[in-house]
Amino acid sequence: MNILVTGGIGYIGSHTVVELMNRGYNPIIIDNLVNSDIEVVDRIEKITGKRPVFEKVEMCNMDELRNFFTKYLQIDAVIHFAALLAVNESVEKPLLYYHNNLVSTLNLLQCMQDFNIKDIVFSSSCTVYGEPDILPVDEFAPIKPAMSPYGNTKKICEDILTDTTKVTEIRSILLRYFNPIGAHETALIGEFQDGVPHHLIPYITETASGKREKLRIFGNDYNTPDGTCLRDYIHVVDIAIAHIAAIERLKISNENKIEVFNLGTGIGYSVLDMVNAFENATGIKINYEIVARRPGDVEAVYADTRLANKELNWKAERTLEEMMRSAWEWEKMLGKGK
Ligand code: UDP
Repeated sequence: MNILVTGGIGYIGSHTVVELMNRGYNPIIIDNLVNSDIEVVDRIEKITGKRPVFEKVEMCNMDELRNFFTKYLQIDAVIHFAALLAVNESVEKPLLYYHNNLVSTLNLLQCMQDFNIKDIVFSSSCTVYGEPDILPVDEFAPIKPAMSPYGNTKKICEDILTDTTKVTEIRSILLRYFNPIGAHETALIGEFQDGVPHHLIPYITETASGKREKLRIFGNDYNTPDGTCLRDYIHVVDIAIAHIAAIERLKISNENKIEVFNLGTGIGYSVLDMVNAFENATGIKINYEIVARRPGDVEAVYADTRLANKELNWKAERTLEEMMRSAWEWEKMLGKGK
């Protein structure tokens, strides 16, 4: 089966391409290379022993996208990762984020309709739940006003897909990721950092490597067991595998036009839990200080995963220790400049 993977050399995209290839699927990657490195294609080849098809395509350019679909007529399903995703940057550059994330999705759906491609898996985020009223949060929880233009693009894309599936033959599965972390066990692919990391785990690994002096923990006065925020951290390979489960479900189910699944472990860990887990997994002490809360942070969010476990027949399997070890191996690989 030929699976178009947009943003397929990014962090989650590249891990998904590897898992697709491991299972005999034929991924076709498109990426505009704005936030990704073409060398990832070589690394995927090193891991899988096979080179995936790659085309540089700017999805916001309808002519370019149409040309791509005209060249590759045998696409069976789409996994749509391509998006800009830096929350802070989206606050500073809302037009860039709205334009990029929405126009690319609109163009993609138009092409899917025109070229008669029916199935799409969309990368969404638990950010659509905002600060949930009930924990763990399930898929039926109310959608809250977005905290950033980035979060809003995820919500609007969900709406676009929902409305489109109602009146076309397109069927979709929206996967709401919680906090993907870690890297492939080979340390050949992982999350590239451009400048100072905003996310917790790269900040921890860069502090461990000496690149950063200390981790700043944003607030310890939340209403949580140790006062720091709770999140549902999940291994990126578990997230990748869920996409294959979603593709397989789309191919067998005829009834459901649109479905939504949470991708998490179901466990909420605090920031301090994560620091301890890193220290235990690697034996390296993390220098940290408690500072003021970060504006816009949600106090606690973790997933009710029962729907995904049952309907996708999928479960996050990798432990926190594996997440931390792989993140650290990846950081060391980056440090070597490989
Ligand atoms: N965090 C922190 N220091 C950092 C980065 C993040 O204390 O340098 C905290 C942040 O306040 C949040 C948690 O770690 O409670 C996860 O943050 P991240 O940005 O990784 O994910 P998100 O906020 O998008 O869930």
